[in-house]
Amino acid sequence: MPPREPGGSLPPREPGSLLPPREPGSLLPPREEVLVRAAWVLTVGPDGDIADGAVHVRDGAIVAVGPYSRLRSALPGVPVVGDGTGLLVPGFVNAHTHLSEALVTGMGSELTLFEWGERIVGPVGTVLTARDAREGTRLRAVELLLTGVTTVNDMFVHSNPDELASLGVVDGLCSVGLRGVVSFGAEDAAVPGAPWASVERIMDEQNELAAAAAAAELASFRYGVGTLLGQSDDLLEAGVDACRARGWAVHTHLAEVREELVTASARWGRRTIPHALHLGMFERPLIAGHGVWVTEADIEILAAHQVAIAHNPVANMILGSGVAPVPRLRSAGIVVGIGTDGAASNDSQDMLQAIKMAALLAKVGAIDPAVLDAATVLRMATIDGARALGLADQIGSIEPGKRADLVLLQDSVCVSVLHDPCGQLVYGASPRAVRDVWVDGRRLVVDHACTVVDEREQIERCRPLARRLAAASGLASAGFSRLWTDRRASTGL
Ligand SMILES: [Zn+2]
Repeated sequence: MPPREPGGSLPPREPGSLLPPREPGSLLPPREEVLVRAAWVLTVGPDGDIADGAVHVRDGAIVAVGPYSRLRSALPGVPVVGDGTGLLVPGFVNAHTHLSEALVTGMGSELTLFEWGERIVGPVGTVLTARDAREGTRLRAVELLLTGVTTVNDMFVHSNPDELASLGVVDGLCSVGLRGVVSFGAEDAAVPGAPWASVERIMDEQNELAAAAAAAELASFRYGVGTLLGQSDDLLEAGVDACRARGWAVHTHLAEVREELVTASARWGRRTIPHALHLGMFERPLIAGHGVWVTEADIEILAAHQVAIAHNPVANMILGSGVAPVPRLRSAGIVVGIGTDGAASNDSQDMLQAIKMAALLAKVGAIDPAVLDAATVLRMATIDGARALGLADQIGSIEPGKRADLVLLQDSVCVSVLHDPCGQLVYGASPRAVRDVWVDGRRLVVDHACTVVDEREQIERCRPLARRLAAASGLASAGFSRLWTDRRASTGL
């Protein structure tokens, strides 16, 4: 099926009528020229770890990296941020999340993935709006920035027939200055014939989202496949055709839970990874969340086609999904980034927590404390996440010529003793230590506060939106506590 031009199946509408007004980019702080100084600069690049180091930032780019004394004497007039303590690291790349879950945290944490999708994410998705997307993105941006995230790879999952809800994410990201890769995780298999579930309607929203991302300064687009099982065979084929024709990269989930493999084998006679190969999905660059339940044959396929994996240790633990074989994936040459996953399957967007859990879960999984060392985990959260998204030429390490996405950790007990700076970052850092964050040279966190969003005001704005979502989706009337009670009753636990 050939790709469709934008807007074919959609009713006529005024430009922007489904979207809240954009906030002008002028609300963002200017790109500053600055020298950022720390006790340790962990470049995750060719310069390695630099003691009493500094980074020169100008016009949104990294201009120079080196010892503070050398840069200071060469640049006497440039303002300095940082008192020479703490750590300076590349901005973290959150390799997999769902901002569609920004307003539905703290529900169903005792459910399995399939139950959770059916009872929570599915019903909420039918009533999500572009306004929810925008305001939820702005709310979670605070949490992302304050845990050092400068790039987020999002998949917005919804099934509201009346709204191009996913486009609200682009507005939200633009309004806060966060770098993002956006996708629409469409699914149509559960309700064949529903008006929002036509291939035409879904491809139109994909096209509209791609156009919105192309018009945004720091956003890019990937074609979203919520899950292979969640899509009809017609939509799967249309997506592969569209990606071939338009050169789109892909964001999906693969091999998250055992039930996925059993169901896929029953439907197609093969597991999801061989089926994705069969469909031609790996012809384009693809990042997949999870890769937990993979065979050696699956790993061979992923490696041969340079499929990247986003590892989401916190979500995997909350849903009891399993332990991803990260060391094995890496040894096979597969690029593995770290993600939080959505706020409904993680219950936060705390990237520092995800980084620590990635290290700990690997140790527990292998019963080996050396199986994934701190330096490797830091690489996964930065340069490998950037490679997984095809952005390694721009971000992911502190190198002259790259964009200035930086995190300064300072003024906290948790980074006060730095015998092993990288180990302290991975195992000991908390959001309290995140003092300043730059994205593309704009300082969005200043002295431990997010300056681009008024946190209290945003919380107040989002509370009624979250209440409406719970009511409109039926979750509030069902009673949140019943989600678990029902499961116990049905399983006899
Ligand atoms: Zn996910």
